[in-house]
Amino acid sequence: MTALSPSTSLPPQTRVLSGVPVVAGVAYAPVIRPGRIPDASRFQGATDIPEPERPAETERFRSAASTVARRLLDRAAHATGAAAEVLSATATLAQDRAWLTAAEKRIADGDPAERATVEAVAQFVELFSQLGGLMAERVTDLRDIRDRVVAELAGLPEPGVPRPSSPSILCAEDLAPADTAGLDPEVIVGLATTLGGPTSHTAIIARQLGIPCVVAVAGLDEVAVGTMVLIDGGQGTVSVEPDAAEAARATERAQHDARLLANWAGPGATADGHRVAVLANVQDGAAAQAARQTPAEGVGLFRTELCFLNRDAEPSVDEQAKIYAEVLRAFSGRKVVIRTLDAGSDKPLKFVGHPDEANPALGVRGVRIAAGNPELLERQLEAIAAAADQTAARPWVMAPMIATAEEAERFGALTRSYGLTPGVMIEIPAAALLADRILAHVDFVSIGTNDLAQYTMAADRMSAELAALTDPWQPAVLALVSMTAKAGAAVGKPVGVCGEAAADPLLACVLTGLGVTSLSCAAAAVTGVGAKIATVTLQQCRDAADAVLGTATAAEARDAARAVLG
Ligand code: PEP
Ligand code: MG
Repeated sequence: MTALSPSTSLPPQTRVLSGVPVVAGVAYAPVIRPGRIPDASRFQGATDIPEPERPAETERFRSAASTVARRLLDRAAHATGAAAEVLSATATLAQDRAWLTAAEKRIADGDPAERATVEAVAQFVELFSQLGGLMAERVTDLRDIRDRVVAELAGLPEPGVPRPSSPSILCAEDLAPADTAGLDPEVIVGLATTLGGPTSHTAIIARQLGIPCVVAVAGLDEVAVGTMVLIDGGQGTVSVEPDAAEAARATERAQHDARLLANWAGPGATADGHRVAVLANVQDGAAAQAARQTPAEGVGLFRTELCFLNRDAEPSVDEQAKIYAEVLRAFSGRKVVIRTLDAGSDKPLKFVGHPDEANPALGVRGVRIAAGNPELLERQLEAIAAAADQTAARPWVMAPMIATAEEAERFGALTRSYGLTPGVMIEIPAAALLADRILAHVDFVSIGTNDLAQYTMAADRMSAELAALTDPWQPAVLALVSMTAKAGAAVGKPVGVCGEAAADPLLACVLTGLGVTSLSCAAAAVTGVGAKIATVTLQQCRDAADAVLGTATAAEARDAARAVLG
């Protein structure tokens, strides 16, 4: 990847950093970065506070703890669903008298506030761990509060992702999915990371939030907080200190293009009327409501595991049903495809108890968890069936990480026993190769091109270095998509694509030409995809698909498609 290449339209002092484009869009704003977690041990050896200064030290502590609680409550008020609940529970714990009193007692005995915080929390961490169960699950929250209070006392930035009061571009080495999920697109107007690939879950969430995003940006670490940058998520560039007038023009141009796209209102069809449903990928009720504001015809992928990333304990069937019903209600009377938990690999769930594995992407993830813990899947299906009952919906339900026809048969039978319509994801090459045999057991399949690319190319989807290999335009990946689409057509069963490939308007046309029957992408990409498909005929899509299947590289495949589709 080229790091510091000069740009033609920007002043000579502008450095243009290149990365992998993830979410199109242009933004110009100052850089912010996540705060570092303070090293609690460095306060251990601090000298005692002289007695006359101890009341003031207690006040300093109280003020820091209440600032932390207030910020958490403020964030909870701006969040929705599970994120709001987690944040307000943490805020309540930050104000809990038990640990505050323990810390104040230590200050009264001479401890500086930072050390008192570290030690009072350590005391409660031990106590909670011994109590086990729900109490033990609060240990992570306590440690989070400790880090926030110590940072506040030490005058350091709040650990984790900051909440700026004006539009800013968040630059980070990498972000945890849970951090990304809480971002507010009103103030975080751009996202750039040094690590990560285009199909990492951080990138997926950025796409869902519609925040212009570039990943794997070489040289980004050297860009200081406060520096003005112009991010172009379509080009995959971050321009450092560009000319302000030129940056404003680039932002205006991007907004103008966005307005043109906004004229497309669905439903998905080629210029000559061949229907291909354009659906949205969502992760909770709030995202589904946001997707409802776009021309998306339904939900092609509800990633249920993303609802529970912060959970220490498995949510009850009732609670799960409530969450799933929110999505079903948002798309009442429309198609909704719910995916059962795809926990593991880069989305571990605490309550699943993942084993330590050398290669978690090749390990016990997705439907494979059900072999050792069938009740977890059964409870989820029970919850989905309950949500369907409550909302009079008929959701389709699919399993992730299916490798064999036997697994599809087992999942199909189990899902039907709950009165639900079963399908599976095709994201492992073995499943694409034997899609005909898999389709014998289920009513539909949906191709997950992110994992299909990872496993076909033997390239980690999280790796920035291997991003060219995990490109969904790789002809080998598209050959497997073609096989799967043919298998579906032969038996008249739907074959969707719900991986990030469906978010690329040009590739969406190629997928249509390959015989894919629906496309599901981040809500922010729905209009771009639908608008592009509406400009081409089915024959053009088929010609582009044929041309792409004859190429040898991802770049050739793109060029071949552009030559046919414009
Ligand atoms: C995929 O692999 O393409 C997919 C849609 O699933 P996820 O990205 O959640 O692994
Ligand atoms: Mg997948």
